[in-house]
Amino acid sequence: METKEMICILCPLGCKMQVKEKPDKPGELSVRGQQCKLGVDYAYDEYANPTRTVTSTVLIHNARLPRLPVKTSKPIPKELVFPALDEIAGVEIKAPVKIGAVIIKNLLGTDSDIIATRSLE
Ligand code: SF4
Repeated sequence: METKEMICILCPLGCKMQVKEKPDKPGELSVRGQQCKLGVDYAYDEYANPTRTVTSTVLIHNARLPRLPVKTSKPIPKELVFPALDEIAGVEIKAPVKIGAVIIKNLLGTDSDIIATRSLE
């Protein structure tokens, strides 16, 4: 089995881990390099279904700033990050907007919304 290098991103230590599936136990992983148990959980999640939180901005009209910062309400599958950025790039909204407002509902069918991360009058 191939060993994958991963960096745990759950805390600032950023442990560099080596992860591979156990040849005699399919679905079970051998994880090395982590400094706590959270790294093992992260390795399992990342191995089976890697996800990412997406942050970006959208064009906003009638506000004191030209762009509104946004992010996904929860992580989405890693392979959908670039399609998500394309979807976000086409959005234009009008002020005012409150922090937490839903800008795109159910982004690409992921059950994650794009939400405002600040208010703009
Ligand atoms: S394995 Fe634990 S200590 Fe290492 S980066 Fe992840 S959370 Fe932090």
